[in-house]
Amino acid sequence: MTDLARLGAGPLRDLFARGEASAVEIVRAHLDHLGRVEPRVEAFLSVMADAAQTRAVWLDRSRSSGEPAGALAGVPVAIKDVLCVRGAPTTCGSRILEGFRPPFDATCVKSLVDAGAVILGKTNMDEFAMGSSTEHSAFKRTRNPWDLERVPGGSSGGSAAAVAAREVPLAVGTDTGGSIRQPAAFTATVGLKPTYGRVSRYGLVAFASSLDQAGPIARTVRDAAMGLSAMAGHDPRDMTSSVEPVADYIGAAEGRGREIAGLRVGVPREFFGRGLDPEVAAGVRRCHDALAARGAEIVEVSLPATDFAIAAYYLVATAEASSNLARYDGVRYGFRDPHASTLKEMYGRTRQAGFGPEVKRRIMLGTYALSAGYYDAYYLKAMRARTLIRSDFARAFEKVDVLVGPTTPTPAFRLGEKLDDPLAMYLSDIYTVTANLSGVPAMSIPCGFTKAGLPIGCQILGRYFDEPTIFSVAAALESDLNVMKQAPPLAVDD
Ligand code: GLN
Repeated sequence: MTDLARLGAGPLRDLFARGEASAVEIVRAHLDHLGRVEPRVEAFLSVMADAAQTRAVWLDRSRSSGEPAGALAGVPVAIKDVLCVRGAPTTCGSRILEGFRPPFDATCVKSLVDAGAVILGKTNMDEFAMGSSTEHSAFKRTRNPWDLERVPGGSSGGSAAAVAAREVPLAVGTDTGGSIRQPAAFTATVGLKPTYGRVSRYGLVAFASSLDQAGPIARTVRDAAMGLSAMAGHDPRDMTSSVEPVADYIGAAEGRGREIAGLRVGVPREFFGRGLDPEVAAGVRRCHDALAARGAEIVEVSLPATDFAIAAYYLVATAEASSNLARYDGVRYGFRDPHASTLKEMYGRTRQAGFGPEVKRRIMLGTYALSAGYYDAYYLKAMRARTLIRSDFARAFEKVDVLVGPTTPTPAFRLGEKLDDPLAMYLSDIYTVTANLSGVPAMSIPCGFTKAGLPIGCQILGRYFDEPTIFSVAAALESDLNVMKQAPPLAVDD
């Protein structure tokens, strides 16, 4: 492995800005390494080698002509295939979007490019971001770089695996119910779901519009802060995008934010109940101890509505999905069944062949929950539970500054282990969905490994738009726990 592919986004950008490495060298090092590990990891749906090289040449030229280097200048990034990249295939892991090439960039993609990033490719994902293992992709199975027999998590499993395997230092994922944080936990990467509205959703193919957020996945807290700084901000093209000023995430990640001494750290009681793997619990307890050792006050809090979280999430998310996915009818985008003789038959055959089983299951569930006679019993009730979840957080954040608990109940599971049992798959989202239902920001950081060598994720949740405090806590744990420097053997030995 060449040295350049070992480095994070920050060091790469600085080497480039100082003229010590060219963008062409950086991109070549990453593409070479990617070429060696990708056959085993299969994180990418498309690698944009030519476009990346052309862009690198352009960046080098613009630097030689004295143009100032952007905040991510020369940094290779991977984009989850649910985000539009102009002219590049955007499949959402689905056959129904095969052949679709959007004529525009998602706003968050454009922001990264404007900051000087080089897009290396689009990453694998569960179809339409529905899943927790990336096994629901219509195209390939991504493997966990730490154990190739295990899943990388999902739905942003391709982005997390690409970062863990050192194919890129920074990737973009999206999180509707945990899809950035859960794969980050499974792959020992740092993944942040920002506050709802912090990052524009324009050009992010909708799964559940009131829950979806894009965010960074990286190997260090500071690199994640660099990613968020580039992506965050108001976008007039997204009506739910916030006008709240963008804070100094990088400063917080460098330890210039909140002091940990005196910080009130909440431990949600409901996150330590039945079903939590003891090794995961022990890993998270080490985080509490490390923060206490710095003078944080550890306070037990209760989020009682967590009991309803999975049920509420799978009603709200599927209801919104059933409406969002109505647009894939063979007329406007991608795949169309060529054998139909009437328009109606064409719709039916296209959707029958184009969508996979999990997507169909969710369209049916969501349509049912919204149908006359069932709306009150299901959708409306789920919305009530959502309100209770929001009030739980509001109450907790009156007492504490952040919440620290596990990201997932277990470490990465085996490929195929939960594929035939949708409910077991859904239950792996128990600790992540509440941040989406309430809109608060939440990050997963690596906090240790099980005896079998599997990564353990610790989740840090904060108040609305208080990503800086999350970054402060994450940076403190990163330096105290010293687990992030480890790399999966596959990424080092090639
Ligand atoms: N695993 C959850 C689901 O299947 C979350 C997905 C996501 O965040 N996109 O819906």
